[in-house]
Amino acid sequence: MAPPQTNPRHAEHRAFMVERHLRARGIRDPLVIAAMGEVPREAFVSGELEEFAYEDSALPIEAGQTISQPYIVARMAELATLEPTDKVLEVGAGSGFAAAVFGRIAAQVYAIERHEELANLARSRIARLGYDNVEIICGDGTKGFAEEEPFDAIIVSAGGPRVPEALKRQLAPGGRLVLPVGTGRMQELIRVTRNEDDTFEEESFGGVAFVPLIGEEGWPDQNADDA
Ligand code: SAM
Repeated sequence: MAPPQTNPRHAEHRAFMVERHLRARGIRDPLVIAAMGEVPREAFVSGELEEFAYEDSALPIEAGQTISQPYIVARMAELATLEPTDKVLEVGAGSGFAAAVFGRIAAQVYAIERHEELANLARSRIARLGYDNVEIICGDGTKGFAEEEPFDAIIVSAGGPRVPEALKRQLAPGGRLVLPVGTGRMQELIRVTRNEDDTFEEESFGGVAFVPLIGEEGWPDQNADDA
């Protein structure tokens, strides 16, 4: 499918973002670089924030959540070693931006978001851009998405206290799970690989700061009793 038409000014800023914030900081995977250079991040934020879309920072979105920093989206995609034949699960779809990026690399992406308002907005943005290999689901992603398991890669875009067992179970042999884990304001970026012999290997890639992963295998929902 041809890339969607975008404002030339945004395209210029996007190319600058790829050079300055991704390549210069060590992102090397050509598939990740191409995807980040293609997806219009300005289409995933509200109008008044469009001008900041190519700064390397998280930005506020609806429901008190954030769209992740471009560098961290690229870093997680690279650590997940996404391939064109992969079936990918993202937990924490938020604006839908990262899911769109993963979908430019992989064959099929399922992205789960717990806030219905965000899931609906993400779905309509993805549809408007014609990215028909990305499906947005509303629910608790700490339980994974059993309907479509196993996944070649699972990327969690919110920080939880531990690695959810359900997500490990839903990895295909050789599958990679990339997620922030930690009990403080900062988390550790972890990659869990399911080996062909069904053992799991865990590697750590430094500190990150994500919004909380809330759900059955994440943090409790502080607002659960307010409803
Ligand atoms: N990847 C997103 C993007 O590109 O816009 C940004 C994600 S934002 C940092 C984290 C998202 O995770 C929030 O939208 C939050 O509502 C969602 N979230 C937190 N816990 C979740 C869960 N258990 N299941 C699904 N979504 C969850």
